[in-house]
Amino acid sequence: MPMVYLDHSATTPLDPEVLQAMMPYLTEEFGNASSVYGLGQRARQAIDQARDEVAAFYGVAAKEVIFTSGGTEGDNFALQGIAQRNADRGRHVITSTIEHDAVLRSADALERDGFEVTRLGVDRDGLVDPAELGRALRPDTILVSIMHANNEIGTVEPIRELVTVTRERSSAYFHSDAVQSTGKIPTTVTELGVDLLSMSAHKLHGPKGVGCLVVRSGVRLAPQLLGGGHERNRRAGTENVAGIVGLAKAIGIAQRDMAKNTAHLTGLRDRLIEGVLDRIPGAALTGHSVNRLPHHASFLFQGVEGESLLLQLDMDGIAASSGSACTSGSLEPSHVILALGYPRERALGSLRLSVGKGNTDADIDLVLDRLPEMVARLRAMTPISAA
Ligand SMILES: *Cc1c(COP(=O)(O)O)cnc(C)c1O
Repeated sequence: MPMVYLDHSATTPLDPEVLQAMMPYLTEEFGNASSVYGLGQRARQAIDQARDEVAAFYGVAAKEVIFTSGGTEGDNFALQGIAQRNADRGRHVITSTIEHDAVLRSADALERDGFEVTRLGVDRDGLVDPAELGRALRPDTILVSIMHANNEIGTVEPIRELVTVTRERSSAYFHSDAVQSTGKIPTTVTELGVDLLSMSAHKLHGPKGVGCLVVRSGVRLAPQLLGGGHERNRRAGTENVAGIVGLAKAIGIAQRDMAKNTAHLTGLRDRLIEGVLDRIPGAALTGHSVNRLPHHASFLFQGVEGESLLLQLDMDGIAASSGSACTSGSLEPSHVILALGYPRERALGSLRLSVGKGNTDADIDLVLDRLPEMVARLRAMTPISAA
């Protein structure tokens, strides 16, 4: 039975073109980019070229790109690095209740270190309100961190407006987690207006364990990894040459094919959304109906546990995701769905289907064929009230 992969917001298959670009640096071109001989210098050149390409994609200078180990490191680096280096200016940080755990846990850690954190709520569609951000900004606010697009509900936040409000009211830096949006929708840093932006290669058909943090020049940021002088003394550690080359290649492909991919992805996504809402009573779309990622469909099913649905889908070879997580044996609803204002029981019935460029109409047909009966069967046996 062929697998139907519908979890591209969790990770994506490596593009064969990306693997091809990486191969030399996993084999014969194994040099350390800090070495003076030819082998090392060729690795250095590969990194330099990758940095130029990533910088051009985001509309920034090459020196404003710091390669990292991925989205988690980028988010930690931004929050910790800004807070540590700018505590002399203030100790107040603003973020939202729907951020990725990499941001939320970093904000918790800042609180333990004596910083004050304001977590802005969202409306039923998952949008942060610029006016509410305006009211939360203070003279001692040093950082605002709001994600560009949410991984669980697909909502795209009004970053430009949020940045504008921030600039009007304060001198705080603005960071955005663009892990989900990069390669899917425009993410030019100059257009978004942000000071820092984090991304990860494996969410756009690149390799796992590599990403970058874009940091506009002039931003005061404390390094988190100390050692050699790599990445202009901002992030020590021998460079992941193959990973960095793969990241740049993945970005190049995403940029080249964006119009084509967007048309394909939104077509599949909209068939999924319409089909599910049409065929399954008591199903609701989560996230914004218009301002959402082109590949992202997410739902709540009344009277069903999302986790049970995942197991049923898996038995039919369909890979999907639910926002809930099983921590210490008890099912915990997603903090994102709860933030939308749904009660706990409803929030447990979440399902995320995220399509990719490799998916076909037949994949969507299969889901639309199987899902209604699965939901009906689970409703008949589930302990959650269908009320
Ligand atoms: C996947 C993801 C991350 C974490 O990125 P990794 O490279 O897997 O560490 C951070 N933020 C968002 C929104 C994500 O979807």
